[in-house]
Amino acid sequence: MKNVKSLFKTLISAIYPNKCICCGEILDEGAYICDNCSVKIERINLDDICLDCGRENENCVCKYNIFRFNALVCVFKNIGLARRAYYSYKFGKKQHYANYFAEEVYHAIKRCYDGTRFDIVCAVPAYQRFGYDHSGYVAELVAEKLGIPFNDKLLFCIKKSKKQHKSTIKERLHNVDGKYFANCCLDNKKVLLIDDIKTTGATLDECAKTLLFAGADCVYCATVLGATEKSKNKN
Ligand SMILES: [Zn+2]
Ligand SMILES: [Zn+2]
Repeated sequence: MKNVKSLFKTLISAIYPNKCICCGEILDEGAYICDNCSVKIERINLDDICLDCGRENENCVCKYNIFRFNALVCVFKNIGLARRAYYSYKFGKKQHYANYFAEEVYHAIKRCYDGTRFDIVCAVPAYQRFGYDHSGYVAELVAEKLGIPFNDKLLFCIKKSKKQHKSTIKERLHNVDGKYFANCCLDNKKVLLIDDIKTTGATLDECAKTLLFAGADCVYCATVLGATEKSKNKN
């Protein structure tokens, strides 16, 4: 029986070999990224990050914005290999890539929020919940790694999104105003809020406002992709 199982496994991996999430190179089972892409993937330098806006210090936008979340850490820049890999997870039905992104977000949280003990993890919700919730799934895996409960019934999105990508921060803040609703009393809980992409921070800011209004003690955020230098002017 054991031999049949391992033969079956070998057959499956011959038909569907495990590949690098960036370049497609065939990898051993359980690996996500090849050594070459792991060096090249565009990471945000966590030794030089401003945790108030989630950007590297030279691109910090804190003099233009004051966010209501307590801190934000973003793992990758929204460009190149990192962007391509995340978008193939998000739109390309590569659901197992979630493990790689969750692992990276987990390490960034451990490193930047060292010593903060969170009570609950939640994700930025979509307006309509159907199909696969890509941010929610990463958040759920991060919660599992941290050993903290994940709650996907905490925050609800009650307003449909407008197309945001060409909006300024002021327009984005206006677009997301009143967009979220918290479904419980958070009673001084320390909340870890996870999203996939941070552009201006308006969405995270509005979710943090909602969670704080519902009684959260603090809201710390983490995203897979963060803003790049290019979008600085829009902030
Ligand atoms: Zn590769
Ligand atoms: Zn900053």
